[in-house]
Amino acid sequence: MIRIEAVSKWYGEFQVLTDIDLSVRQGERIVICGPSGSGKSTLIRCINRLETVQQGRIVVDGIELTAGGRNVDSVRAEVGMVFQQFNLFPHLTILENCTLAPMRVRGMGREEAEAVAMKYLTRVRIPEQARKYPSQLSGGQQQRVAIARALCMTPKIMLFDEPTSALDPEMVKEVLDTMIGLADDGMTMLCVTHEMGFARSVADRVIFMADGRILEQAPPAQFFSQPQHEKTRSFLGQIL
Ligand code: ADP
Ligand code: MG
Repeated sequence: MIRIEAVSKWYGEFQVLTDIDLSVRQGERIVICGPSGSGKSTLIRCINRLETVQQGRIVVDGIELTAGGRNVDSVRAEVGMVFQQFNLFPHLTILENCTLAPMRVRGMGREEAEAVAMKYLTRVRIPEQARKYPSQLSGGQQQRVAIARALCMTPKIMLFDEPTSALDPEMVKEVLDTMIGLADDGMTMLCVTHEMGFARSVADRVIFMADGRILEQAPPAQFFSQPQHEKTRSFLGQIL
């Protein structure tokens, strides 16, 4: 579903990603962790072309993300993204947040778009909030709206960038439960998160990044019990 080959990226003089190789099969659940500044956000932003790379190749569901950028729209339609800060449109209702892209990008009629939106708002268990504005919802509810909004585009891949980091502790579980539900349905998922309980129970593979490189990757049981790198051990020592 995703093939990343020998990808390197620079911000000016600063090399943020170095020689990244990563393949993700359909239905696979990947957790990416690592210290702050290690390039995790940059890497997943490259997958839906929020960032471009200077070296290497990224192929998403057979679509090559070329430098020319012709394929950007087709990839964005297949890849949903959920951010730490929710990024809902504050001036639109929950329902309007969910119908905007299907109507504008997919050309769906309003009635159908609203039916689809209500289906996914029901799935994240907040259909009753549809007519409210984001500021009237809790952080956990807003993040579930962000997940529903992404699902309204029927993506093949979902990217999560620290989706629970901005939440009060009591709201983390409701968002993780929503993500677990998606995983159970077979969604291909890449999740940057430090929720190691989630990694243990959901991930097929845990990837550890440091200084713009993938230092190691392993199934969770192995990753947590036998981390290979000193940097992984020290990272796990800090967060567990
Ligand atoms: P992580 O998500 O692992 O914390 P990021 O991918 O956000 O790491 O950032 C990796 C490094 O790249 C950091 O040192 C950060 O300061 C730098 N960086 C991120 N975005 C930009 C940018 N737009 N311009 C310059 N440097 C950036
Ligand atoms: Mg980040």
